[in-house]
Amino acid sequence: MAHSPSVGSHVRIKLTTHDGETVLEGVVLPPAVQDHVTVKLANGYNVSHPLSSVEVISSEQPVTSERPPAEVPLMNPDLPTVRIIHTGGTIASKVDYATGAVTAQFEPSELVEHVPELLEIANLDVHKIGNMFSEDIRPNHWNQIIDATEKAFEHGCVGVVVTHGTDTLHITASAVAFAWCGMGGNPPGRIAFVGSQRSSDRASSDAAQNLISAVKWAAEGPSPTGELSDAVVVSMHRTSDDGACSIHPATGVRKLHSSRRDAFQSVNTTPLATIHIDNKNVDLVLEHHYKEARINANSRTPSPAAERYDENIVIRQMVAGPWLTKQEIEDAASSNVDALVIHGTGLGHLPIENPNTDAPQNIELRDSLHQLDKPIVVVNQCIHGPVNMNVYSKGRIQQEIGLLGHGITSSPEAAVVKLHFALSNGLEIDSVMTKNLIGEQQQTILN
Ligand code: ASP
Repeated sequence: MAHSPSVGSHVRIKLTTHDGETVLEGVVLPPAVQDHVTVKLANGYNVSHPLSSVEVISSEQPVTSERPPAEVPLMNPDLPTVRIIHTGGTIASKVDYATGAVTAQFEPSELVEHVPELLEIANLDVHKIGNMFSEDIRPNHWNQIIDATEKAFEHGCVGVVVTHGTDTLHITASAVAFAWCGMGGNPPGRIAFVGSQRSSDRASSDAAQNLISAVKWAAEGPSPTGELSDAVVVSMHRTSDDGACSIHPATGVRKLHSSRRDAFQSVNTTPLATIHIDNKNVDLVLEHHYKEARINANSRTPSPAAERYDENIVIRQMVAGPWLTKQEIEDAASSNVDALVIHGTGLGHLPIENPNTDAPQNIELRDSLHQLDKPIVVVNQCIHGPVNMNVYSKGRIQQEIGLLGHGITSSPEAAVVKLHFALSNGLEIDSVMTKNLIGEQQQTILN
């Protein structure tokens, strides 16, 4: 019987079947059945054949076999230093060949080692907060990331790259942005968040280019103004092709696709810059509108300290639509919530009128909202476009009964983070939601 190739190795095998001979190529998985060879093909399918029908033509060990973390390379005195703050996500994941699932496994030093181009841009050091998927991130992790960014600048880094899962990357990036700039401050260096849609061990991975682009921005980007939502940015593929990554402002970007490599797109704004990557050439090009805005900006003085989030704040979120009733509001009223966020339809609407006199629950909902003695902020289910409660009489009634949010033009998630920030720092909620704290408000889209 043929000798079974080792799990994880890349093989070419010749098969003898009733149909004749075929050659297949792929990665060896643990055998699905005893005395079989199971191979994951490039198209993603797994095939299993009896060992007796398989001839191994070639077999190579995987590049990412178990080994100790890489040595930190020697410093190049001509390059700036950038710290990678590692939290996990797909960018730090590989396929677990035991289950076929993607699991968070890479150490941050391995990530750096796999993208040697990075060391031509900056001296890198790494700080690991964890290997978490981003759906598990909570405000206490925001505070840990903020601590780590402060330390990096204190240690002389010109920039910081936060590697993060993509699902909530835009939320954490907004949280770090408000922490540094929400009270009028500005970090002493650049902060870029980066993730990837395909795990780093796949041929189709976007990880390397997203990371190169983030490190380029952190090392060589312009000094943040602090008021153009440029202190914290998100670096991800510009299109589904390789070759260019967008640098988005943290408060104006969102994951808009569950699987495409260009999942991240700006919301109510456009990217600040593009990083073009062509083999060894990595070029940072500022977008015209950002260059112009920088000329007129009052760049804030860099400060070494950022704010923190109150980890005990409770924000309850609801979705407006045919299912929203007073019950949800009453439940919130009787529990320990600090504020409500309602994702309104269209311009920010809720079902609170009863023109046909056959939907009394709408009036009940309106009354329960009116009676609630907590801030209620309306954000936008449409994602793009403003919350505008001046267009329809419905919106005006909402404002009369105390709903906040008219004029929000950031991404909806940035608005929720801002609410958490404002509650944590004792800001006046009634006025702050539409006040421009860090460049999150795109004034030109409110019309
Ligand atoms: N669910 C993963 C996460 O957000 C997806 C990713 O990293 O892209 O961590």
